[in-house]
Amino acid sequence: MINPILARDVLKSDDLIVIAGAGGFIGGALTRYFREQGFTRVRAVDKKPLEGWYQRVPGAECLTLDLSQWENCQRAVEGSREVYNLAADMGGMGFIERYRVECLRSILINTHLIEAAYQAGVERYFFSSSACVYNTELQKDPNARALKESDAYPAFPERGYGWEKLLSEIFCQEYWAERKLMTFIARFHNVYGPWGTWDGGREKAPAALCRKVIAARDSGQLEIQIWGDGTQTRSFMYIDDCVQGIDRIVHCDELTATPINLGSSELISVDDLVTMIEEIAGVKLQRRYQPDAPRGVAGRNSDNTLIRQILGWEPSIPLRWGMEQTYRWIEAQYFDRKVGKPTPAGDRPMF
Ligand code: NAD
Repeated sequence: MINPILARDVLKSDDLIVIAGAGGFIGGALTRYFREQGFTRVRAVDKKPLEGWYQRVPGAECLTLDLSQWENCQRAVEGSREVYNLAADMGGMGFIERYRVECLRSILINTHLIEAAYQAGVERYFFSSSACVYNTELQKDPNARALKESDAYPAFPERGYGWEKLLSEIFCQEYWAERKLMTFIARFHNVYGPWGTWDGGREKAPAALCRKVIAARDSGQLEIQIWGDGTQTRSFMYIDDCVQGIDRIVHCDELTATPINLGSSELISVDDLVTMIEEIAGVKLQRRYQPDAPRGVAGRNSDNTLIRQILGWEPSIPLRWGMEQTYRWIEAQYFDRKVGKPTPAGDRPMF
């Protein structure tokens, strides 16, 4: 068994950690994680005004800064030992297929933030990449084999979002090769859980399907619209596995400048995911398929050989358990909103 090295093994509790995109789903969860680990100085940065942040973690320094601007990146990383870049203009398939320019423009965030981190003498820099970097030709079948890290090349990623991630990965690799900034790159495969986007157009399949089931139950109209034909397959990683994995990856020197999958390998079709949510909700719905809606690739799973080999660990929280937590949380948000209570996610307009 390999002993994990974590932030608490290499940092002092008052070392400054900077989290970019901390007003969002994963950045918010990571901020909370580091505070719960006992770090007293966590700087959380996001371009959204504070009232739009999904989580405001007690004790974290919160800054509203647009990190696509160079001066703001300099300000954000000042005095820090580690920087985590979770900031991006992104969403589920509906968003990334429609707003390619916005997705591509996230390149500005990483470009400025990594240079600012380098100039400030930051020791470790993390970039959140995505399974969307993988060659789409390898994902045309719902039973496609799981994707291993080398499958990103020859490059044919998702247009827009995937290209931005791939190029930003290369920035990270070259900052290490040429300038010796230690960079770490995780390719996330669909992350889900409480405190994520569940409405408004940027939400991903697990949250969108939970919301639709809740709304159908609430309205008594027992039917559900499903994007595509329901055969698409994916794997989904629960948020707690995600933040745990980020910490392990960033503190493993062997993984410097090495893109690595961070995802669950529990594959499921969209149809089976709907069945799982119906079971959680205790309802059965009439399914209406929308073949022309955005559906992404036909099949995608995470090959976890590398992460198991290097870290002796992989995301393992069962989908059924994670979906229970997610469903209950979205249900509470849905009914809070119905009675006019402000909810952390779902209120924001798309543009
Ligand atoms: P999110 O949309 O919830 O959070 C991203 C945050 O970045 C938002 O709060 C947004 O306001 C902020 N942001 C955008 N532009 C900014 C800017 N110019 N300056 C400062 N902040 C800015 O998304 P998330 O699900 O938390 O994703 C975090 C990271 O993980 C992103 O890089 C995303 O591409 C990557 N990722 C996520 C998933 C997933 O399933 N959630 C999968 C693969 C990769």
